Amino acid sequence: MNNEQIDLKASLLHYLQNQLDRRFTTEQDYNRAVASAIRDYLMPAWRETLARHHHQEKRHAYYLSMEFLIGRSLVNNMQNLGIENEVTQAFNELGLSLESIQQAEADAGLGNGGLGRLAACFMDSCASLALPVTGYGLRYEYGLFRQLIKNGHQIETPDCWLEFNSYPWEVNRKEYTCKVKFGGHCWTHKDPDTGRFEVIWQADEEVLAVPFDVPIVGYQNNTVNTLRLWDANATEAFKLDEFNAGDYFEAVATNNSAKSITMVLYPNDSNQNGKTLRLRQQYFLVSASLQDVLTHWVKKHGIDFSQFAQANVFQLNDTHPSLAVAELMRLLIDEYQLEWNQAWLIVTQTMAYTNHTLLPEALESWPVEMMRTLLPRPLEIIEEINRHFLVQVSYKWPGELDKQRQLSIIDGYGMVKMAHLAIVGSFSVNGVAALHSELLKSKLFNHFYQLWPHKFNNKTNGVTPRRWIAAANPALRNLLNDTLGSDWITNLNQLEQLEAYQNDSAFLARWREIKQNNKQRLADFVAQQTGIELNIEAMFDVQVKRIHQYKRQILNVLHVIHLYSQIKKGQTDNWTNRVVIFGGKAAPGYWMAKQTIKLINNVAQIVNKDRDVGDKLKVVFYPDYRVSAMEMVCPATDLSEQISTAGKEASGTGNMKFMMNGALTIGTLDGANVEMLEALGQQNFFLFGLEAHQIQALEGHYQPQDLINQDTDLQAIFHLLEVGHFSLFESGIFDPLIASSKDPADPWKTLADFRSYIDAQAQAAQAYRDPQAWSRMSLLNCARSGRFSADRTIQDYNRDIWKLNDLK
Ligand SMILES: *Cc1c(COP(=O)(O)O)cnc(C)c1O
Repeated sequence: MNNEQIDLKASLLHYLQNQLDRRFTTEQDYNRAVASAIRDYLMPAWRETLARHHHQEKRHAYYLSMEFLIGRSLVNNMQNLGIENEVTQAFNELGLSLESIQQAEADAGLGNGGLGRLAACFMDSCASLALPVTGYGLRYEYGLFRQLIKNGHQIETPDCWLEFNSYPWEVNRKEYTCKVKFGGHCWTHKDPDTGRFEVIWQADEEVLAVPFDVPIVGYQNNTVNTLRLWDANATEAFKLDEFNAGDYFEAVATNNSAKSITMVLYPNDSNQNGKTLRLRQQYFLVSASLQDVLTHWVKKHGIDFSQFAQANVFQLNDTHPSLAVAELMRLLIDEYQLEWNQAWLIVTQTMAYTNHTLLPEALESWPVEMMRTLLPRPLEIIEEINRHFLVQVSYKWPGELDKQRQLSIIDGYGMVKMAHLAIVGSFSVNGVAALHSELLKSKLFNHFYQLWPHKFNNKTNGVTPRRWIAAANPALRNLLNDTLGSDWITNLNQLEQLEAYQNDSAFLARWREIKQNNKQRLADFVAQQTGIELNIEAMFDVQVKRIHQYKRQILNVLHVIHLYSQIKKGQTDNWTNRVVIFGGKAAPGYWMAKQTIKLINNVAQIVNKDRDVGDKLKVVFYPDYRVSAMEMVCPATDLSEQISTAGKEASGTGNMKFMMNGALTIGTLDGANVEMLEALGQQNFFLFGLEAHQIQALEGHYQPQDLINQDTDLQAIFHLLEVGHFSLFESGIFDPLIASSKDPADPWKTLADFRSYIDAQAQAAQAYRDPQAWSRMSLLNCARSGRFSADRTIQDYNRDIWKLNDLK
């Protein structure tokens, strides 16, 4: 033991004994004690990493994101610190079970889905690669809502993840508190000494941004990076003069309005929310983070910014933090007196933007008038950026006024288009999978691509194998370590060596045994939560992700109804038993998504209690899908459903977690599925459906009713739906869902892919009947998943965009 390091067991005892009343110690208390002990233990490495960043004058990257979907940290941190055995032993000696204490940790659910989880995986990879990268986000008091299911409906309840308003992993760094302005007005003032015109922003509200730092432990490399989360507070808890004047409520209300900024995460995934509070959140994140970086810079370099762009790069996770473009301009010009052109050069050499969606409803825009009220000075700067930009457009396309209209950051409806601001202000624009990045260039941002082809690049997403294999699937981790050694954990391409075992039937039998044990673990949990008994000999067919029409959970439901109707007709020769598992949250305001949850639950109820059906088919809705749920689900999955309408899912990352854990995929040519198929070959992937360009070609010619008329299976399914077989005494409840599938204007073209989906499902069922062949394909999925490690993604970002040196 390094003499600076502490004795874990003694520290654990210290935290346990520090409780006043030890008769009522709960698993949460034990969890908090062990987390506190481990946080103390990692402190020296954290301090050293910060010192290295501070002293080594090296280039540094900042990852700005409104969401970090971290999940639990105990197991991950123990594993990355290499102290699992020590802690387990200490627990055994104290007569405690580490397993149940791990389960007691609440998920840090500071994100909606894939975008937020990506940010968390990236933080893990940056630390494990010893790259100097700091994350900046918001410390929401309430993360994504918890989902209950009552009578088949989703009920949202608040996520009180901060028990007693604290998180054992965080450290309050109130010494780095800064102020963020809102509202008020601006005027120009000529400095009598310099003759320089300056803009004064007289805000009518100032909010304190208080940082809380969360350690990001690299994998056994003595690196602990920082995720800095901002908490909003009122500048003065009580304005003394108002208080003395008797205006007690006014004084306290100021506090509440400030606090509300980081009170709750907006629960919309792939859909923009136009609320003022959301704009306040975005600006709060951006302003506090940039002030933090600039204050630090000025402490070291004074107001000399000539080397700033060499030393700093900001990665914007979607347009949510794209006000950074305007805010960095404002700080450099108004606070540090740079000229416009100098400041613009710095901004456009330090900002890099990642796009996450092509869906029009998810593209952010803010009313100019809302911005003028809330952020008068940043808006002036955006208007000025736009004037300069439109001149450039006119040089490129002389006389083509429509080009200026289409590209303008501020459109004809008085909306500020945040993606345009992000592209104009950044030196790099990337999509998150090869297909997605191509579509950005050829469709959504084609004009920008013509203007600046050099800005556009692809960075296919990845997930961290530390969490998604080693921690989530210990049995698989042990097999991989025994077979390949442990290098795969930090070099996932090593999994290729598994291919040598693809025809080794003893090895394949072990492979299958691990999967069956993981299925049993999940089955036990499902039985306990829902009372549904699952047979692990059945194929576990899983679709877990946010509920969204573009993800087409409905298509999966149509297949379930098809299987049910075959069983009822006795058409069960060569049948493969299935367990179909759904999980996912619907945005509270997304009615169609909520109806989809109700339909899944109603179908489950009818199917599961039918004696003719028995083990042939079970349907489960797994409530409150979240990171810790996925950790249990993905190791237990045989078949992964990745069935979005081609061209709509930017990448997907759930698909990668399943592949690493040896699930086979049934999927469309969408997002990263395209690259998974490329790695696997058609014989190891159940491909179906139209391609992105075919979906586009259907626009205006789509006739779902004709498809129903041609297909007796579809007719049977719609008959059951339309007579109300699944409506359970609420007649007509699913009419809007049914109508949307049959609508020629259906943007998701669900029925266009129905036949090929059903055929691919039949192939999957057939393949599952040969356990050895299935296990072989399962092994190949794992063996070929190396390129979907977030380490590879981060190395790509670093090579092409960040250009950092590792600090090993
Ligand atoms: C990986 C993950 C996602 C993303 O899943 P997709 O299938 O890519 O949409 C969403 N939520 C959680 C909790 C995850 O772990």
